Order: sequence, then C-alpha cells, then structure tokens
Amino acid sequence: MTAKTEDGTIITLSTKMRREQLREWRNSNLFYCPGCNDTVHLKVGDIVIPHFAHKKDKSCSASFSEGESKEHLQGKHDLFTFFERIGVEVKLEPYFNDLAQRPDLLVTNNTGQIPIEFQCSAIPIKHIKSRTAGYKKAGMAPIWILHTPRKIMALPQGVGIFQLSEFEKSFLTETFPKGINFLTYNPQFERFHYFSSLLHIAGRRYIGLHRTLPIKKQIFPFAQPKNPNEDELQNYATLFLAMRKKFLRNRILHNRKGVNDPFLRNCYELRILPSELPLWIGIPVTHINPFREHPCEWQLAFVHFLHSEKLTVHTICDDFICSFVKNFQGPIDTQLIACMNYRDFLLSLNMESLDNIANFEERQFIELLSHKFLAK
Ligand SMILES: [Zn+2]
Repeated sequence: MTAKTEDGTIITLSTKMRREQLREWRNSNLFYCPGCNDTVHLKVGDIVIPHFAHKKDKSCSASFSEGESKEHLQGKHDLFTFFERIGVEVKLEPYFNDLAQRPDLLVTNNTGQIPIEFQCSAIPIKHIKSRTAGYKKAGMAPIWILHTPRKIMALPQGVGIFQLSEFEKSFLTETFPKGINFLTYNPQFERFHYFSSLLHIAGRRYIGLHRTLPIKKQIFPFAQPKNPNEDELQNYATLFLAMRKKFLRNRILHNRKGVNDPFLRNCYELRILPSELPLWIGIPVTHINPFREHPCEWQLAFVHFLHSEKLTVHTICDDFICSFVKNFQGPIDTQLIACMNYRDFLLSLNMESLDNIANFEERQFIELLSHKFLAK
C-alpha cells in the first residue's frame, strides 16, 4: 500500500481516499516501488482495497501487496484503521533496509516499535521463525496475528476442543501467568478470535476457551483473554475426562499389537484393567504435552518404570527420570519437566507405593486443573 512518487516522496494509500480520487490521481502520476525502484501500478478495483502492484512477471525481493489475497489486504487495512482510530502511531509496510523485512504494520508506543504481521496463507514455519528472529535482533518483539482458520471460525464461543495444525501451532504464544494463547483475526466479520488457556492433550488436539472481540472494541496492547471461570473449569474437566475415556476405549478396541502393545502390557504387569485405569494416571501436567503419547500412556509407563526398578516417588532421582525419558521420541528437556511435574503430583498424593495410593477423585481433578493451569 506504499509507493514513491517521482520526487521520491513515500506515499501511503489511506482508507480515507475515495476511489474516484485515486483513479484521477493515477492518471496524472507515476509510482515507483520503494524497494526496487521499478514502476508500479496503482490498482483501484471495486472489490479489492486499492493497492500498488508491480508489472506482471517482475520479481522484486521487497515485493508487497501483489499476490496478496483480498483477505490480507482487508485485514491489514482494518488493523491500520484500528490503530489510527485509537491514536496509536502506525506505519503501513515500512521497509527495514538492514533486515530486508517489511512488516505489514509498524506500531510505535511507549514500549518502542512493534512490528505487526497479519498472516493469511500457510508459509513455511522456518520463515516465521527467521522473520521473528530478524525483528528480535533489531530489538523488536513482533506480534503475529493469524487469519482465523476457517474450521474454527464458526465454532461457538466457550470451552471446546480445537485441532491445530503444525503451522497454526507455530502461532501459539505463552505468557505468564496467562498460559498458552492463540490470537487470530477474521476480516470478513471484523473481529478477533481468541483461543486461550489452551491445554494440549495429544497430537493436534487442545482444549481451550474460544472468545471473539469485534475490532471496534479492541484496545492496544491487545486485550488479554480472561481466565476460565468455575463453570468453564468444569467444562474443561468434563471434556478432558471424556477424551481420556475415549482414548482408553480406542486403545483396547484397536489394539493391533496384541501382547506387544506396551500400554496393555504395562497394564497387565501392574494388574490394572485398562478400562479402569485410575484417575491419577493420565492427567495433564504441563500446558503442552511434550510426548507424542497420550498422558495415560506415558504416565502409566512411568508408574511401570518405578515398579520395575523397585523405586518409589520418594526415591526416584532425576537421573532415573532421564533414563526413563530416553525411551520416548520428542523434546527431552520438556519431557523431563513433565515427568518431574508428574512425580511431584504423585508425591502430593502421598503415594508410597502403588498399593496404597490415596483416592483421587474427579473433584480433586478439577482443583488440579484450576490450580495448575487455568485460574492462576
Ligand atoms: Zn519492487
């Protein structure tokens, strides 16, 4: 949405300019790309927001606007107008020469400069990481806003189960003490969709709180979603336990490995019926489950490990936890933390051995959720 005129002045298309005005302006001016200095056309259509575009087949590393979807232009325009309206200094697509990066917007407030990226299309995750790293090197913390994924756009507000792709997962942000959040914007309905207090189960599945906020009511710094209230906590627990039950049922029904299935073998050796796995096995202990396995699976393996090594939660040391974690694929550091949290949880139950485990009931499970994750 920016270009240079013949005398080198940088111009930004404002949302206040009328289309007829722009068409007239186009007839009497030449425009150049601020990146490569090539001539660009001012496109003024009836559907897409007015923008500058290179000539066809011209590749420009500083390229912008062209190839952008209608949604991207609309979102960028909405956000730009939003910042102008609330009186926050904002620039559209400023080019950082030393970074060779052009954020969609650059906001300046008393904390400094904040690049804002509105991402509509799936780009390689490494590009997101390298762009973020570029900004951070220059002392700026960017805010990425993802276009609300279509599959979750129409979901009702409140507690629900969300499936996030690897690409979408790369937009999750963790803040303390609020937990894991996901900020998206939907230009079609001019509103933000928040997915907050996310609790990862396994694979792509999360339980979280979905809320929407019309851009008219947005503030900056962006509004932070509230923690779940008591009813919502109860919904988290109900969903988590329903998914746990479903997992256990599927695990028994779709067992193709027979006695070689590690989960069922562990159950057998510990004399536990898989369908009656105690509630204290298979609980969330970190916001993101760092194992590929469901918590039921790796926690049962942990209990089995204690049993076979003749250890108790009082006597297991960090080295043993290390050797346990080595049996799994995935990020070792966070798996270690998850195991230590699980050990601490078992300690809190005053568990001496498997035989004299204190009763752990659904009510305590809700308390655990609320203390550990959701209502800090
Ligand atoms: Zn160019």
